Amino acid sequence: TAAQWRALRAPSLSARFLHQQVASSRDTSSHGGVRHGGVRHGETHKTRLAVKDNIAASGFPTTCASRILVGTSIPFAATVVTQLRRHGMEVVGKAAMDEFGMGTHSTTSAFESVHNAYPLEAYSAGGSSGGSAVAVREGRADIALGTDTGGSVRMPAAYTGIVGFKPSYGMLSRWGVVPYANSLDTVGLLASTVRLVRETIVGLGLYRENDPRDPTSLPDTVRSRCTAEREGYASAGEPPQTLKGLTFGLPLEYNIEELDPRIRQGWLQAIDTIQQLGGRVVPVSLPSTKNALSAYYVIAPAEAASNLAKYDGIRYGYRDTSGSSDAQDGVLYARTRGSGFGDEVKRRILLGSYTLSSEAIDNYFIQAQKVRQLVRRDFDRIFKLENPLLDEQHFALSEMDGSVGIETKLGPAQVDFLVCPTAPTTPPLLEQVRNQTPLDSYTNDIFTVPASLAGLPAISIPMDIPVDPSSEEQKLLHFGGLQLIGQYWDDARVLSIAERLS
Ligand code: GLN
Repeated sequence: TAAQWRALRAPSLSARFLHQQVASSRDTSSHGGVRHGGVRHGETHKTRLAVKDNIAASGFPTTCASRILVGTSIPFAATVVTQLRRHGMEVVGKAAMDEFGMGTHSTTSAFESVHNAYPLEAYSAGGSSGGSAVAVREGRADIALGTDTGGSVRMPAAYTGIVGFKPSYGMLSRWGVVPYANSLDTVGLLASTVRLVRETIVGLGLYRENDPRDPTSLPDTVRSRCTAEREGYASAGEPPQTLKGLTFGLPLEYNIEELDPRIRQGWLQAIDTIQQLGGRVVPVSLPSTKNALSAYYVIAPAEAASNLAKYDGIRYGYRDTSGSSDAQDGVLYARTRGSGFGDEVKRRILLGSYTLSSEAIDNYFIQAQKVRQLVRRDFDRIFKLENPLLDEQHFALSEMDGSVGIETKLGPAQVDFLVCPTAPTTPPLLEQVRNQTPLDSYTNDIFTVPASLAGLPAISIPMDIPVDPSSEEQKLLHFGGLQLIGQYWDDARVLSIAERLS
């Protein structure tokens, strides 16, 4: 509403705040997020690639930061790793993460928690691709692969002051990537600059490559149709000088009470920059946002519970043979899973198994799928571009739902991109994270899960935030993450505009 919009604009910049650039100095001496692999500085001209430990890379173990996968090895490389190797990149290590990607601060690993890069070691590096982010931040890798199911590439990028890109669902192959929640999982890229990400996705033509081994990889026919409908793929040139002709939507529902005032200020400054560059900014409403987080935390654990059922201690991986030697398989299974999975993973398995159970499925899983549809529709309603995957039934539904559409559409809400923070706060202290309830940590994902539920491309770039020079902590935490979300398969433009803004 207009009042919300005013509230967002209201806090004016105080003169005592400085605006610092995100530090570009790289400290290579402090602790790393890269595991398993030796990192060789100066020995190679190849682009150094860090790979999240849930993505198979031949020559390296793949543990998903879980005890249950210790001792296994995947004898092939994920398609995306093979593709990048083919383009001359060298895998320099596997990056630490939250167990099976379940977490927001890279603290649920069975082996090691990740901490932020120097001088922020006391703070969260974000998760679940925290190791990937820190590897880039510390200069141990030029580019890193992560996975983003509900924000796991964008969140660590925001917390470490680098760039994190989640492509459209189905763009990059997930073959060789250990699934967490299949309908949401994407492979994403982290780097210091948008340019390197853009050169990789668009320049190297990764967006073109269908993988017949991944059933969720967008088929060639649809891929070429989507690409033909979108600008920016054919000409991988320089980003535009001005943003003239482009409209940026400011989702009012993202101006939540819990938003750190400094992040809100940074957001406002970014909006000013967009306007100075000739872009138009309009408030928009995404009314289903408030339910997106709950829907995500029903759908993701449900899919996870189903995916993780295969870790039984029988076929491969860790097996807990402690206790009586005449244990029945059922006991072995329970014991193996009991000691093989960490607390957060077990919590998700319980949650997921419950919401899929016959007594709860209608109230939870089915409802969550409906909310997911509403979230998609919210996005489709406000973007200028049509969703190329809209089927007729979906279209008919949104037509029928015109009343909702008219009431909630604010002003000329035909936008090219949405612009909002990536996370509601700067990175919290790891100490604080340890005392958080799981729910506290889930609510952190509030701005990242909507794009995941809708399968849309989204990027987090560093955002300047005001700093009170008398606060030592603020001087350290002088950046936040700015998120740019685009319509489905509009990845090339999202990257190009993000490059312009960064
Ligand atoms: N924090 C979210 C979760 O725990 C997102 C994780 C992810 O994207 N892999 O599910």
